[in-house]
Amino acid sequence: MSSYYKPHRNPGWNYGGREWRLSRSKIDLFLECARCFYIDNKLGTARPPGFPFNLNSAVDELLKKEFDTHRAAGTQHPLAAAYGVDAVPLNDPRMDEWRDALKRGIQYYHKPTGMTVRGGVDDVWQDKEGRLIIVDYKATSKDGKIESLDEEWHRGYKRQIEVYQWLFRQNGFQVLDLGYWVYANASKDRAAFDGKLEFEVTLVPYVGTTDWVEPTLFELKKCLDSKELPPAATDCDYCTYRRAVEESLTKAGLVMSSHTPTIEPQPVKKEVIRPKVAQKEEPHEATGQLF
Ligand code: SF4
Repeated sequence: MSSYYKPHRNPGWNYGGREWRLSRSKIDLFLECARCFYIDNKLGTARPPGFPFNLNSAVDELLKKEFDTHRAAGTQHPLAAAYGVDAVPLNDPRMDEWRDALKRGIQYYHKPTGMTVRGGVDDVWQDKEGRLIIVDYKATSKDGKIESLDEEWHRGYKRQIEVYQWLFRQNGFQVLDLGYWVYANASKDRAAFDGKLEFEVTLVPYVGTTDWVEPTLFELKKCLDSKELPPAATDCDYCTYRRAVEESLTKAGLVMSSHTPTIEPQPVKKEVIRPKVAQKEEPHEATGQLF
């Protein structure tokens, strides 16, 4: 078991516990697979996290520094200028809090469900009329110039921007439907590595709709309050793996418990949070059914 993974979370961080918050990624998990969401948030056992994508993280960090320079100076970033986006990075003392995806983020207490929703935004820009524009940084390496996100698995990226738009609106800000991804694409079209990666950075627009967010909160609350295990997604690699293991063991006449280390229940002081960057580039694994 890696140091990243604690299979039994301290109940204080589960639904109903003092520390529980509904993060943007948990909303996404609910929409992928209500069963996994329920087992994670209500029963306290999450899927094992992926390992951190450190290169994506480095790109995020450098982009943040670069945009912060323009934030401090009140100037337009050349990328925004190149795409004709008349906006500057928002200079607000709460930016660091809103960007803290692990502990804080932008939060809103949704009174009808009694849930606090939160999410850590990458960046926020502001246009001449004071309206906010939600911006998310992405990094990848693929052929061609990235100018739109049209794959089915990009739906999660779109929901990400939409939840942030919703959160800022609930906090009283005027937010444009139009958001952007700052996309850094590492080129493989070079003779050698030579100790460096070269990126093409594009600004990809997206018009979000947030009308699905509140109905989803009610559905999600109903799921959490139910005593029944919700249905599982049908195309999940995790459950396909579990099923394959059970079939192999049964075929070989072996018993899982003779080879599996015991998991000691242990008090965990802090929530084990999946590294944000592990979900940056690849889609979440689609979610078969074994539970
Ligand atoms: S189908 Fe996948 S996502 Fe759903 S409960 Fe099983 S492991 Fe979790």
